Amino acid sequence: MPQLSSSSQTTDKDRIEQLLRNPQPGEIVDQWPPCRICAAQFNRNRPTLRYCRSCEKAYCEGEHGGYGAAALCLACIFKSIWGTPLG
Ligand SMILES: [Zn+2]
Ligand SMILES: [Zn+2]
Repeated sequence: MPQLSSSSQTTDKDRIEQLLRNPQPGEIVDQWPPCRICAAQFNRNRPTLRYCRSCEKAYCEGEHGGYGAAALCLACIFKSIWGTPLG
């Protein structure tokens, strides 16, 4: 059983992993966290099940981050290259 802590803040990673562990009947996109870069940069709501391994925020795969299990979001990729966050 996963242990849920009510005191700590829930990250997008927590939410996504919970969704992946307990698949819902059909795709309940309403429960998916939105891409944080889309929200911050474009004021756009784009639900995703991909999260960054570094900052644990949700991002849309391919457009705002890399592919694969160990992928980073664009903000962390920018940070690792230039030492400054995106935006
Ligand atoms: Zn995005
Ligand atoms: Zn990140």
